[in-house]
Amino acid sequence: MSDTQNKTHSMLILPGDGIGPEVMEEVKRVITWMEENRGLKFDISEDHVGGRAYDEYGVPLADKTLQKAKEVGAVMFGAVGGSKWDGVDYDKRPEAGLLTLRKELNLFANLRPALCFEPLVDASSLKPELVSGLDIMIVRELTGGVYFGEPRGIEELSNGQRRGVNTQVYETYEIHRIGHVAFDLARKRRGHVTSSEKANVMESGLLWREEMEIIARDYPDVEYQNMLADNCGMQLVRAPKQFDVIVTDNLFGDMLSDVAAMLTGSLGMLPSASLGEVGKGALYEPVHGSAPDIAGKGIANPLATILSFAMALRYTYDCGDEATLIEDAVNEVLKDGIRTADIQQEGKTLVSTSEMGDHILAALTKLNK
Ligand code: NAD
Repeated sequence: MSDTQNKTHSMLILPGDGIGPEVMEEVKRVITWMEENRGLKFDISEDHVGGRAYDEYGVPLADKTLQKAKEVGAVMFGAVGGSKWDGVDYDKRPEAGLLTLRKELNLFANLRPALCFEPLVDASSLKPELVSGLDIMIVRELTGGVYFGEPRGIEELSNGQRRGVNTQVYETYEIHRIGHVAFDLARKRRGHVTSSEKANVMESGLLWREEMEIIARDYPDVEYQNMLADNCGMQLVRAPKQFDVIVTDNLFGDMLSDVAAMLTGSLGMLPSASLGEVGKGALYEPVHGSAPDIAGKGIANPLATILSFAMALRYTYDCGDEATLIEDAVNEVLKDGIRTADIQQEGKTLVSTSEMGDHILAALTKLNK
């Protein structure tokens, strides 16, 4: 039995609002399957977050929940939000629960894979030959840059005009820690890093580039290139398969990760991870929100959340084989023509959220033989 199988993996599950609890139910079944069939041991706690937490505790993230999030190996997060809480003060809105978690756990690295499952190549807005086999990882800096820099605000000027100000600011340590995440990841993948900034027009971009070049020297086995962010956006839709790991700042990462995500089709398929310092906080969540329009109907696609759990297995619990098993099971199920409504195609079998879960468990069992 391997080391990771002997360990007990602590996890906090926060299903949240809308379809969050529905898709998380299927993750819990996958966890049970892993315990019964792969010998993994989990110590799971569960709590409310977002609107549900506001209803229960009067805040979107209770202190005890935050404390627990700091103690466990990883948080599995569903989604938060809904019109029921539209009138609530900003600091108590469901989304504030997620922002507080990111800040308090110091989750500075956002990992967004753009993986094109072969049976879904037709769902992309690009030609199948451009996305077939696509496997990119975007590493976005999440706690710095222009979204947080000071000064910021809107000022009234004496001439009657108004001025909006935000500040793009990065310090060396912020660039280094995100850089190391990207290069370490590249070592476990295809060994290529592209760093994206606007060094041609922004001093903060020039600093980013200079520091990345310093980090690159520590990784002679990883191929490295710089690319201006506008060109990177263009290359992502022209020839996306040229990329392996893309590392970039908060603002450019926000945009480039959304562009890359859409190369693969549906929101219901996209996982993500947000990581802090090694061993000090990790949060895994689907990219999608709480989808109030389909909540309670049992038709949400649970695959993004199941794939987020696979990322937790790989990046927090060091169970890469089990992560690959889940990814293979997803591919197998899609290959068999099983589809939830969001990825439905002509001639394929339409299934509910829990039926998709049934198929994933069956595929796991088949592949585990
Ligand atoms: P959304 O991602 O919830 O939904 C966008 C569209 O995609 C909807 O039509 C929805 O039905 C569909 N969709 C999303 N996930 C799906 C899935 N798993 N299966 C099938 N279809 C799916 O985005 P939105 O509608 O802009 O926001 C709804 C709420 O979610 C808002 O309150 C928003 O603030 C919140 N939100 C939360 C997060 C988060 O918790 N991380 C992220 C984004 C939005």
